[in-house]
Amino acid sequence: MSTKPVALTIAGSDSGGGAGIQADLKAMEANGVFGASALAAVTAQNTEEVSRAHDLPPSLVATQIDAVVGDMDVKAAKTGMLSAPPIIETVADRVATHDLRPFVVDPVMISKTGFKLLQDEAIDTLVNDLLPLATLVTPNVHEAEHLTDVEIDTPDDLRAAGAALLEYGPDAVLVKGGHLSGADDAVDVLVDGETGRRFQAPRIDTEHTHGTGCTYASAIAAHLAKGHDLGAAVDRAKRYVTGAIRHALPLGHGRGPTNHF
Ligand code: PLP
Repeated sequence: MSTKPVALTIAGSDSGGGAGIQADLKAMEANGVFGASALAAVTAQNTEEVSRAHDLPPSLVATQIDAVVGDMDVKAAKTGMLSAPPIIETVADRVATHDLRPFVVDPVMISKTGFKLLQDEAIDTLVNDLLPLATLVTPNVHEAEHLTDVEIDTPDDLRAAGAALLEYGPDAVLVKGGHLSGADDAVDVLVDGETGRRFQAPRIDTEHTHGTGCTYASAIAAHLAKGHDLGAAVDRAKRYVTGAIRHALPLGHGRGPTNHF
């Protein structure tokens, strides 16, 4: 009987289906792995706004992780929206206890519609408890600037921010330059201590980018679950997310979602 590697996402739900757990599972399946999930929060959300967010009890987040890991051979895990210190501490504890690796941390902070998905008082917990466990952290420009003192205007700044984030203890950092203005290409920089490798793809001129970060991190986790090394996983995921943006769906009245195919 044929089977698939299993990847686990620990993140928030997006009722609109474009970001969060829903994007993660679609991206994982589209990239050839079976996606399992532990919900950390529920959001009432569509392409225009996040109207409400509710955290699940940390113990319930832990029990979901334990249930999946106790049964299936999880080959990679990733986190998305983890909004509050107790949830981040709990996830860090379960990831360490189960030795969940490779482990991709998407340091989700704010939605494109402007809703705070990470509480201000949780930033220190994210940095101190979760980042040291990460195989890869995937901040966008906004998140990287928030987590470091680096002001980012150029691809060289992406590398500097990645190097600063490495100090917190992850194995590698992928700083995503999609939000940099002016350039024809969307450039991301992978920093792992020795090298700063660039991943480049044509910038796609669209408003429909909801769920892009979730999709990218989940596609990376999927390729890691399949056994690719980090560089190959990022390369494949970058190509996937570029196609998912190019074919984004103009659903709803706001920013349409990336399209998983
Ligand atoms: N909602 C949830 C639950 C998320 O996890 C995320 C992103 O990680 C978002 C919304 C943000 O999506 P976007 O900024 O792409 O609209």
